Amino acid sequence: MGMFDWYTPLPPVPCPWCGRAISEWQGKDGPCAMLVYEQGRAAPVEQRVSADCQVSIQNRDTMLLPSHFRMIGSCCSSEIHVEGESVDGVWLNSMIVDLKLNESSLRRRRPVFTCGPVKSLPLDPVRVARKERRVGHDDVLSALQSKVPFVLANVGDPFDWYYGDARHSLWRSEIKPRLLPANSDAIYLENWPDGRCYAASQWSATGGQRVILFELYH
Ligand SMILES: [Zn+2]
Repeated sequence: MGMFDWYTPLPPVPCPWCGRAISEWQGKDGPCAMLVYEQGRAAPVEQRVSADCQVSIQNRDTMLLPSHFRMIGSCCSSEIHVEGESVDGVWLNSMIVDLKLNESSLRRRRPVFTCGPVKSLPLDPVRVARKERRVGHDDVLSALQSKVPFVLANVGDPFDWYYGDARHSLWRSEIKPRLLPANSDAIYLENWPDGRCYAASQWSATGGQRVILFELYH
């Protein structure tokens, strides 16, 4: 059986569909010694192996996490992939970067965006992200590289989430040719391909989840 480590995001990362806190996260980017890492701390807090197999506390205290590491949890027939970020070994942020759905219909259980502009962005039944600032072309490119999910908002539709590679094709074919500059609020639809354009903004929630939101104007 392969070895791995356990991870405890704090605050907990809830399931995007039902909102329940996912208690068990496993990953293979750390030392893979059945260690338990906790967000906000550097050294592991526990090692879940029999006492005669444990490393000494002094050794354990040196087993720090890399700057980026992946952990996987599951709920509602879905695999939830979270990326942790650490600075000097201390785990500071946790962000959902991918969802593997066994039932694609679950995607439609996301809340509907009823009236613009977006004032609060529900990440799941528990957490709401706050708007930080409008962003432009270069910010979107760096968000693509750092795996930040994209959300598309169109009045009357559910918020449409994009993770991983799905974000690249959305960006290239749909959004890049129609992105309003970060400092522009003047919307002249006739100037944009097919008469539609997007305003992009960066949002965040406690615990480290970041999102790029694209609001559609048409
Ligand atoms: Zn769930």
